[in-house]
Amino acid sequence: MITNETIVALSTPTGTGAIGVIRLSGKEAISITNSVFSGKDLLKQESHTIHFGLIKDGEKVIDEVLVSLFIAPKSYTKENVVEISCHGSNYIIQQIINLLIKKGASAAKPGEFTLRAFLNGGLDLSQAEAVADLISSDSAAAHNVAMNQLRGGFSTELNQLREQLIHFASMIELELDFAEEDVEFANRDQLQELINKINLVLNKLIRSFELGNVIKQGINTVIAGRPNAGKSTLLNALLNEERAIVSEIAGTTRDTIEELLNINGINFRLIDTAGIREATDTIEAIGVEKTMQKINQSAVLVYMFDVVNLTVKEIREDIAKLYRPGMAFIAVANKIDLSYNNKLKELQLPSEIRFIAISAKANQQVEELKELLYDTAVGDQLSDNHTMVTNIRHVEALERTRAALDSVANGLVNPVTSDFLSMDIKQALYYLGEITGQVTTDDLLENIFSKFCIGK
Ligand code: GDP
Repeated sequence: MITNETIVALSTPTGTGAIGVIRLSGKEAISITNSVFSGKDLLKQESHTIHFGLIKDGEKVIDEVLVSLFIAPKSYTKENVVEISCHGSNYIIQQIINLLIKKGASAAKPGEFTLRAFLNGGLDLSQAEAVADLISSDSAAAHNVAMNQLRGGFSTELNQLREQLIHFASMIELELDFAEEDVEFANRDQLQELINKINLVLNKLIRSFELGNVIKQGINTVIAGRPNAGKSTLLNALLNEERAIVSEIAGTTRDTIEELLNINGINFRLIDTAGIREATDTIEAIGVEKTMQKINQSAVLVYMFDVVNLTVKEIREDIAKLYRPGMAFIAVANKIDLSYNNKLKELQLPSEIRFIAISAKANQQVEELKELLYDTAVGDQLSDNHTMVTNIRHVEALERTRAALDSVANGLVNPVTSDFLSMDIKQALYYLGEITGQVTTDDLLENIFSKFCIGK
């Protein structure tokens, strides 16, 4: 897959900016740059140095630039890398890139720099994917997860397990060589113990996927309740902005509105919905249907009710309609700035439903509601900074590994011959290797790297 070509691309976003960075990677990166650079002779400079000069097309000066040199193998791609910082005009950038292509470079494909880093051994596969996540991370938590993965936290753990399993695989291979003599080099109890240990880690990683993914995407949080409960007002209070339309006419928030709220570094996707009361006109009916769809997709459901205008019976009915056991559910009584009777004492909600009384309009207890949201969705799962899987490809490989290990374990309980055992272990090793990239196929690589932007 690696070609000898020297590739070039803009590595900063397109559009006008103070500077643009054009990156080259490959054997000829420095000589190609040198051929259009007027300043010091770049071929005679040390790695990790920066040089001021002009980029010239013949006699025509295109720009004043800074050139940074990274000589192989001390670079991101492990090849010669040059970064040209020029003025960030589209015109200048295009001129320079065209010039470099004229001098022998070729335009980089999406993710090609990172692909080279991977193929040249600078990164393993899960680290390369973390680069993509890092670029697109838009919250502190997503950034943390990607950074942890990039630093190899994730692969280190798996690699250690893989090594141990390889040890057993080779012991069992050895048994195959001595098949006639009926010896056991691989201690079956120890193998069972290792499988248990690996399963523990696999299960933890697979479980972390749910939370990890949620962190990457944002936590779907639906705010449901009857018209006029104060949902839009709450949304505004949470976001400190006049986003949703607040109105006195029941049922005006007909469509769903989505907003991003950051609590303690986690993104919550807040979805305000049309009311849950029985729909009387068709437009609202569409809204209600959408509400139920959104509720089914939500990770957290916030049910808001007007504590003044609703009876205890009505509140209970609403909750019965919305709540399903096991759901992350928060009941919010709104409008406590107004007078209401003993309703809340009468209500007596089941203990697994979290409850808070607020005033969205008077901004009472809104901060506390945010904390409750965070506790409900994330709790203490993030506290020990454990490794987290955020990639569907990884979780699939982990699940396949688990299935293969189950076969190995079965083969230990109902003893099978060493060659069957060996096959199952190899299968497990294969899937583990798929995550960190010891096992790859061109299709897989193409799939992963095509998702990158050009210049990465
Ligand atoms: P939605 O239909 O659930 O989105 O309800 P809105 O946010 O549009 O609010 C309906 C009405 O209730 C508006 O007149 C709001 O000003 C009012 N309202 C919302 N929250 C409160 C509150 O905490 N206290 C009081 N007194 N009025 C509120």
